Formats: sequence, structure tokens, C-alpha cells
Amino acid sequence: MPQLNMTCIICPMGCSITVKHENETITEITGNTCRRGAAYAEAEIFHPQRTLTTTMRCTDGHMLSVKTDRPVPKSALMDCMKQINAARAVLPVSIGDILIRDVCGSNIIATENRDSL
Ligand code: SF4
Repeated sequence: MPQLNMTCIICPMGCSITVKHENETITEITGNTCRRGAAYAEAEIFHPQRTLTTTMRCTDGHMLSVKTDRPVPKSALMDCMKQINAARAVLPVSIGDILIRDVCGSNIIATENRDSL
């Protein structure tokens, strides 16, 4: 029976979780200290998602820190990066401004303030 070990990233406890599964069915989850860990492990097995944190080039050529405003499927991260790399942030930008809408089910938002030159 396939088994996967992972570290829960939901809280700083960082519990070591082991998931046993058979095809699309989880048969056992151990090591989690709470139910949130079990939910995380199940999602990580079948629908892993990540919040993408990266940089985006501005119209002035400098880089701006950005992130997705919600987790996106792990399998879509490269597509997100392609769209971010193809775009340019128009200054001025404030934290939370939406720079690109609807990228892999998320928006790309600024995580820093930047004035125009
Ligand atoms: S299983 Fe619960 S207590 Fe352990 S790291 Fe995950 S959220 Fe925290």
C-alpha cells in the first residue's frame, strides 16, 4: 500500500504526518495532532495547492515582489510564472493592488509599495 510522509505546514507545530492510500482512497492518516492536519494531508495527496510568491518586472525595469491572492493548484505554478513573466507592473503600486486578474484561478497582487520614478 503506497505511503507518503509529509510535514504539516498549517501551524508552527510542524507535525510529521504519514498517509497511506490505495488509488483514490485514503486508508490511514497518522501523526497529525488535530483535524486540520488530516485535512491538509488529504488535500496534499489529491489536490496540492500553493500560494505563489515571486517577483514581477515593472515598466521601469525593476523587480516588484508579488504573490497570488489565494492558493493555486501546484500543477499550474509554471503557467502562473509564464503569465507573470510576460506582464509588467505599471507604477505606482501599493500593497494589495491587483496587477494581473484571473491567473490560474487567482489574482496576482503586489506585496510591496513602489512609487514611480
Ligand atoms: S497537524 Fe495540527 S497541530 Fe500539527 S502542524 Fe498540522 S495543524 Fe498544527
